Amino acid sequence: MSGRLTIVMYHYVHELAGQGFVKLVGRTYDEFQGQLDYLERRFTIVTPEQFIDAVKGRCALPANACMLTFDDGYRIHYSVVFKALRERGLAGFFFPPARPVLEPSVLDVHKIHFTLASTAGAAEVARQLCDWLEMNAVAFSLQPVASYKAAYAKASRFDPAEVVFVKRMLQKGLPDAVRTAAVDALFRNLSGYDEALLSEALYLRAHEIAEMVDSGMYVGAHGYDHRWLDTLTVAEQERELDLSLSFLEDVGAPTENWIMCYPYGGQDPLLLDGLRRRGCVAGLTTEVAVADIGRYDPLLLPRLDTNDLPLHRDG
Ligand SMILES: [Zn+2]
Repeated sequence: MSGRLTIVMYHYVHELAGQGFVKLVGRTYDEFQGQLDYLERRFTIVTPEQFIDAVKGRCALPANACMLTFDDGYRIHYSVVFKALRERGLAGFFFPPARPVLEPSVLDVHKIHFTLASTAGAAEVARQLCDWLEMNAVAFSLQPVASYKAAYAKASRFDPAEVVFVKRMLQKGLPDAVRTAAVDALFRNLSGYDEALLSEALYLRAHEIAEMVDSGMYVGAHGYDHRWLDTLTVAEQERELDLSLSFLEDVGAPTENWIMCYPYGGQDPLLLDGLRRRGCVAGLTTEVAVADIGRYDPLLLPRLDTNDLPLHRDG
């Protein structure tokens, strides 16, 4: 009995007309439809019931099972993805962080993105970050800028050194309070966006999520504030989980036998204990592999990125 399950991870999907946030990295509408053609031809797209039954050991998955997951609660998940899936009679699994749905706020990860995508350019963002670090060195007891640069300014497979420096420093390199303050300052100076207006345009509204749930889409937890959950104290982890669950309850999503999707893939054993105590039955990571129910810990299921799969019907 095979428990193999190809879990595909999506983030942003663009509208047909190329409106919206054209600078966000994501699938074009045609690529998305082409990939759905490919997946429908070769796989059986699982429903929430099939997936939950399989992880609970009640029922085997169909052969060539595939699960479609959408992270980060983009409003386009309602206006584009939900409609495309509904037309095909498919179910998707959506994981919106709670805070930007409930408050007129933009997640740090997106503030960083929109700051780096600004016309100022990455070199200017890195320069302003260094200025900010120097100006706030005493207030926040920071290390000298040169030591941060030595640790983080290293080119990666995808980005030049100055982009990696900004991303690493602002995503995980600085302590939480410093990071939030620095991200805010750079976003305000450089992005050209008003936070409240961007929040409303970028993220799902609660009533849209409720409609998706009513129409058979699965909505699960992706944290309250989209933080690296493996960097938090147990008390902070528990708060993230409890706030996520009360958000799911408010939008009518399941809070029994529910699914967690870890922001940035970050988790640790204490978090997994907290999840088990709260009745979570599956956790989605960002480890790149085809999952196998029964072989993997159900709280540590790997996924493939949409970029790992073909974009046309015939592959
Ligand atoms: Zn995320």
